Amino acid sequence: MTARILDGKAIRDEIYGELKSDIDALAGRGIRPGLAAVLVGDNPASKLYVNSKIAACAKLGLGSFLLTPPATITTEELLEVIDGLNRRDDVDGILVQMPLPKQVDAKRILDAIDPAKDVDGFHPVNVGRLVAGRPNLVACTPAGVMEILRRSGIEIEGANAVVMGRSDIVGKPMALLLLHANATVTICHSKTRALAEITRRADILVAAMGRAAMVTKEYVRPGATVIDVGQNVITDASEAERVFANFPEKIESFHKKRSVLVGDVHPDVVEVAGAFTPVPGGVGPLTIAMLMSNTVRAARMRRGERAAQATGAKP
Ligand code: NAP
Repeated sequence: MTARILDGKAIRDEIYGELKSDIDALAGRGIRPGLAAVLVGDNPASKLYVNSKIAACAKLGLGSFLLTPPATITTEELLEVIDGLNRRDDVDGILVQMPLPKQVDAKRILDAIDPAKDVDGFHPVNVGRLVAGRPNLVACTPAGVMEILRRSGIEIEGANAVVMGRSDIVGKPMALLLLHANATVTICHSKTRALAEITRRADILVAAMGRAAMVTKEYVRPGATVIDVGQNVITDASEAERVFANFPEKIESFHKKRSVLVGDVHPDVVEVAGAFTPVPGGVGPLTIAMLMSNTVRAARMRRGERAAQATGAKP
């Protein structure tokens, strides 16, 4: 059996098409949703992420504001930056790129963001709304996974869904979204016993542990839908050769670039899964798409409008 590939880029483009008409309609009424990105210090990976978010805003015609405080900023100073953004009427969404320098209290910063502008969906108010089944702004990566499942026609209602990972930004909101979409949900983590026995019961398996290629064929029931959230960089040649033994083009690419991206799911799982998201090109593109969607949604909500959100959970 060869699994059906769930193409995240194609789904992202479909969402961008829908968002573009929404944004154009708002522009006709003189409204331009705006996203403020706070990038502290000069971590190269963070810069890359923030730049791609700003580029997506430009592509869709959203306003964007990049703030780049120095790595030496204190918690109090950063709280003042957030306070300023909370007050600005041209800012609908605020995103603080993680990780923050260690002298900064990240929890206090995230809690200070106006929940109505919390487009990452990390604020306790938005997490609470999700738990209560009344979501407003939902964490982007799990919301993106729901879009992949829904738009690919994967049946969620009544399905056994297993989520590997229980982080606040992926695993927990993922499990809640699946639960609200009427899946029977099991959450696994690093202390789970007999992990493969549990994951083999899944019709939908979501891997979000940050462990390169950990989910091998033995973890997957034949025909299951496998969603790979993981993004791990392999820089060791023998590891790359072992993981990609059946994918010579990946090994060739590794030898050129000296690194290769791999998910939490082993590439050989393609032989047993019914459908799967590739890495790269699966879940990743949806994360930014949902950030854009949340920014438009926040802009509408701040103006007292109801906004549709297709996350599988009832708004
Ligand atoms: P995280 O905060 O490190 O959480 C990892 C979770 O996996 C924890 O709950 C941990 O369990 C669990 N875990 C770790 N090792 C395990 C094992 N051997 N067996 C079972 N569970 C295990 O990571 P995260 O922020 O959720 O991210 C997870 C992955 O998704 C990473 O690869 C990250 O790069 C990727 N990611 C991708 C996107 C995207 O846009 N595609 C966005 C966000 C994250 P404990 O709680 O017991 O420690």
